[in-house]
Amino acid sequence: QAHLDRIAAVDGDVHAFLHVSDRAVEVAADIDRRRAAGEELGELAGVPLAIKDVLVTTDMPSTSGSKILEGYMSPYDATVVARSRAAGLVPLGKTNMDEFAMGSSTEHSAYGPTRNPWDLDRIPGGSGGGSAAAVAAFEAPIALGSDTGGSIRQPAHVTGTVGMKPTYGGVSRYGAIALASSLDQVGPVSRTVLDSALLHDVIGGHDPHDATSLADQWPSFAAAAREGATGEVLKGLKVGVIRELDDRGFQRGVSDSFRASLAKLEAAGAEIVEVSAPHFEYGVAAYYLILPAEASSNLAKFDSVRFGMRVDVPGGTVEDVMAATRDAGFGEEVKRRIILGTYALSAGYYDAYYGSAQKVRTLIQRDFDEAFAQVDVIATPSAPTTAFRLGEQLDDPLQMYLNDVTTIPVNLAGVPGISIPSGLAEEDGLPVGIQFVAPAREDARLYRVGAALE
Ligand code: GLN
Repeated sequence: QAHLDRIAAVDGDVHAFLHVSDRAVEVAADIDRRRAAGEELGELAGVPLAIKDVLVTTDMPSTSGSKILEGYMSPYDATVVARSRAAGLVPLGKTNMDEFAMGSSTEHSAYGPTRNPWDLDRIPGGSGGGSAAAVAAFEAPIALGSDTGGSIRQPAHVTGTVGMKPTYGGVSRYGAIALASSLDQVGPVSRTVLDSALLHDVIGGHDPHDATSLADQWPSFAAAAREGATGEVLKGLKVGVIRELDDRGFQRGVSDSFRASLAKLEAAGAEIVEVSAPHFEYGVAAYYLILPAEASSNLAKFDSVRFGMRVDVPGGTVEDVMAATRDAGFGEEVKRRIILGTYALSAGYYDAYYGSAQKVRTLIQRDFDEAFAQVDVIATPSAPTTAFRLGEQLDDPLQMYLNDVTTIPVNLAGVPGISIPSGLAEEDGLPVGIQFVAPAREDARLYRVGAALE
């Protein structure tokens, strides 16, 4: 009830939610009853949960921020939602996002932007700006997001929250409306590292409904975070810093905060090691071929027949109806990427564009492999700037894309990455995050290190 009250008080300004559940109090009361009856419930039982609208739910609409899915009710729950319910988490509502998770500011939502609770004139990051803003504004203690190129970590960076992108395959994508299937991962957003770890324990692990789900047995991430909190893990930890990233393009307060975090790590006994990742800087270029290619294919299912909206064209053919529906239902950024992706995949261009991008992807993976032969984790600023003003980058797609320079390579390599708050930028007083990256399957290491530095 406290969270619903908080939503009622501030969400008119913040607009983190697209839908607020009318069943939350009832579900919470049921958890209380089960607990009173002596049932053993997990640590997160009774904790309210905000859910990014990219995840399908049976009791609330799922739109992925798009008009084409307005009012869409899913016949099933995403695996992460089903597991959250089973663990006794209480779904509070669905959070706002850039349409189909394309964007870094949540301004591409068909339902209007979310605002950053730190400064309502500024963006909360994207695409998962709603989940991050809800957590930062104390409308929800914890949230689910999805991260294809930074959509959990960059919003965490600009809102002073924690955001984790798990190892690819570590968390089920079943019921996550696909953007780019080889990059998408679901993960937690929270105010502390331990909270993210607790939620990751609930949602993670093998799911036969997702063909790319890893069969691994995962350690307890909450145990890792608790162990990390003692700080012992930092003694002798080798932290890699990427030479090629230098300070290029980073706002002063972001670089300063990053350096201050490195000094803190060193003071706690960590060793800072320069590593080289020469192909890191081509990540954004490769990503904007691979992502549109996969997205154009994934979004082909919105054909006016199977899902959501249909615009009738009197006397028109099936193609006319499909075209009119997609024209009215998709926003500009989505259309831009469908066109880019369709072009990149077309016969004659496939090798030049998609094929080259996949080669660059392999080179980035090798950069990470070589770096991780020398260090335990890599650290980077989570994003180049603090929260920018609404409207500032809306007419400049390339500028918008560059917000993810340090997060995108992590998705391309399939490795885990976490953003944790590293302080405030001196020049504008806005939050800054530091990103840690670990080898694939070493998600627990990130919770240990994150909790130690927190
Ligand atoms: N901002 C990136 C994009 O627009 C990342 C999005 C995401 O992670 N879903 O594609």
